[in-house]
Amino acid sequence: DVADIPAVPEWLPEHLQAEGIESLYPPQAEAVDSGVTEGENLVASIPTASGKTLIAELAMLASVARGGTALYIVPLRALASEKHAEFEQFEQYGLDVGVSTGNYESEGGWLSGKDIIVATSEKVDSLVRNGAGWLDDLTCVVADEVHLVDDAERGPTLEVTLAKLRRINPDLQTVALSATIGNAGELAAWLDAELLDSEWRPIDLKKGVHYGQALHLEDGSQRELRVRDGEKATAAIVRDTLEDDRDADGNVVEEGGSSLVFVNSRRNAEAAAGRLSNTVANHLGPDERAELQGVASEIRDVSDTETSDDLADAVEGGAAFHHAGLARGHRELVEEAFRDRLLKVVCATPTLAAGVNTPSRRVIVRDWRRYDGTAGGMQPLSVLEVHQMMGRAGRPGLDPYGEAVLLANSHDELDELFDRYVWADPEPVRSKLAAEPALRTHILATVASGFASTREGLLEFLEATLYASQTDEGGRLETVADEMIEYLERNDFLEREGDTLTATNLGHTVSRLYLDPMSAAEVIDGLEAADERPSALGLYHLVSRTPDMYQLYLRSGEDEEYTMLAYERETEFLGAMPSEFEDNRFEDWLSALKTARLLEDWASEVEEDQITERYGVGPGDIRGKVEAASWLLGAAESLAGELGLEWTPAIREARTRVEDGVKEELIDLAGVRGVGRKRARRLFEAGIEDRSDLREADKSIVLAALRGREGTAENILENVGHRDPSMEGVEPDPDAEPVVE
Ligand code: ADP
Repeated sequence: DVADIPAVPEWLPEHLQAEGIESLYPPQAEAVDSGVTEGENLVASIPTASGKTLIAELAMLASVARGGTALYIVPLRALASEKHAEFEQFEQYGLDVGVSTGNYESEGGWLSGKDIIVATSEKVDSLVRNGAGWLDDLTCVVADEVHLVDDAERGPTLEVTLAKLRRINPDLQTVALSATIGNAGELAAWLDAELLDSEWRPIDLKKGVHYGQALHLEDGSQRELRVRDGEKATAAIVRDTLEDDRDADGNVVEEGGSSLVFVNSRRNAEAAAGRLSNTVANHLGPDERAELQGVASEIRDVSDTETSDDLADAVEGGAAFHHAGLARGHRELVEEAFRDRLLKVVCATPTLAAGVNTPSRRVIVRDWRRYDGTAGGMQPLSVLEVHQMMGRAGRPGLDPYGEAVLLANSHDELDELFDRYVWADPEPVRSKLAAEPALRTHILATVASGFASTREGLLEFLEATLYASQTDEGGRLETVADEMIEYLERNDFLEREGDTLTATNLGHTVSRLYLDPMSAAEVIDGLEAADERPSALGLYHLVSRTPDMYQLYLRSGEDEEYTMLAYERETEFLGAMPSEFEDNRFEDWLSALKTARLLEDWASEVEEDQITERYGVGPGDIRGKVEAASWLLGAAESLAGELGLEWTPAIREARTRVEDGVKEELIDLAGVRGVGRKRARRLFEAGIEDRSDLREADKSIVLAALRGREGTAENILENVGHRDPSMEGVEPDPDAEPVVE
């Protein structure tokens, strides 16, 4: 019973009851029994949608009630805002909840005094590096999706960050939440935590495989599910899910429901949504159609791109796609309409499975292989991932049970899918810390922020990681660590004197800037190689070839196109171009060039939908590249300053241009709040060339340039400090449209 939870604030039971939570789910009760509200460490490995968040909330609220501060670490930025919104419900009881995303260079001083803070592991890592004093006050840390320590890219950061926080405060309560994994016990041993390992789910889940004309379920039963001529299996299952189940007399025994379809790429998600909207459209009533029209027009309002149009078209037919390339506004509209049962199908890439709470009657795992560049080809998904997707099936209180299905094309595949996923247990989670990029970054940061000052101290610190607790190959960590120390010395980031290791000024800067030392070395070499003012393309290329930028892939046939471009603009590159005979290096150089040209296009006012088409990316990808470039160019500016190089103005200009998406002549205007790239260009064409022109401008000219949008014009004029006697005392129009483009 929620009234019997020890050590939580007294308002909590009533609050939970008001939320419809009368009693704890069994794993939650077990967590309480093991002392999670009384400061005990806990590793909870339980299935998706089984109430992990409440366990975290109980721990954090109890810790705050004892006068402490809690930190909730999420794996993705998109989840930070989601969790923040969720925890804001506690502000009515006087708690102060904060979220920290964005820049990696600040110490987030404003976060001190908050009771609950949400942040990504990268952000927490950077806060530690920047010496955020308030971290000393932490009493409880929650690591969400802790099984991601297995992720080669982001896992090591989570692992090292937890080790650091626990070193700063040895009494820190650690609560780690994980999907069901094979070796939760090892995580618990690493974190000195109680183990909660449960298979309980609030709603039954039936897993199965569709093959031929039937659904084969894990209990051995089969149900007919016919695929019509010319129809795809996915469409047949979606249709079957939509139709009401009736008894022999034709009475509805179970209403139709929604499907979540997981596919392996953004392009596939978009294509499948388009096709499935035709299937769904026949099942919509007139009211639903009208409401979906409304959602579709909101989607078109978010942005004026092809993706936006495709999404809106699909939504009109009751289907949608969802992937990390979507604009945030689009994502939110899709999630909400799906939760409201207005959308009947969402076709998603697996990002959604990770944390966004969007259950549905059926989950269809259409693709169980995914392209993997490093492994070279299609690779099967892990059992853990497939189970996490499947776990989204079934809405407690709405559906009798959830059903999750894979699709087989042959009898052999039917057997294989049962063995591989339906009956299989998830893989054990293994630390990826011993990889070079991870260690070179974390060794520098560990020394720079004072967690170790000798080689021995460093090794001792590394002993507190999951990696050390999992390996019996003691020498491996030491060997890689030694190689990385040497690398860092060679690049002047670390200095060794006898036993002592210290970070150089440059090393401190690199660590605080949150750069991979290899990125920093690349940028430094490039800037030092420049003998004249670097061009914007040269700088975009420089930052695009660092390991901190995700490069665009070259599509087939593009090699030639970019090789030509490389020779055409050879003089602009910073540092020597690799020879065409060095296959891999040359290929990387070209991919970086493709990325750099996207950035140059954006900074030359090429239209967004032209860019998405030219590079085969979504609007979200453009934003991602722009953000990364602006961060890396900011870092390049700091490094140039640190090294006394003269290129800072050129770097700043390239950065501002890419941030605002404008040519050089518009930089000043585009810096005014409310003036985006398009409006800046229109103002410029009307003869208003910079801020001072705008400040003095005739209001009617501004209004005409902004196509008669009164509210927008007034807001912009106010932002720039326009003095217009006729407007004295006039408040800006509260109904004015928001001043962003
Ligand atoms: P997880 O993080 O494990 O995937 P969530 O914490 O998002 O799952 O919980 C899934 C849903 O279950 C949420 O909508 C939540 O409000 C609900 N829930 C959690 N605990 C309870 C409970 N004890 N009783 C009823 N509903 C609950």
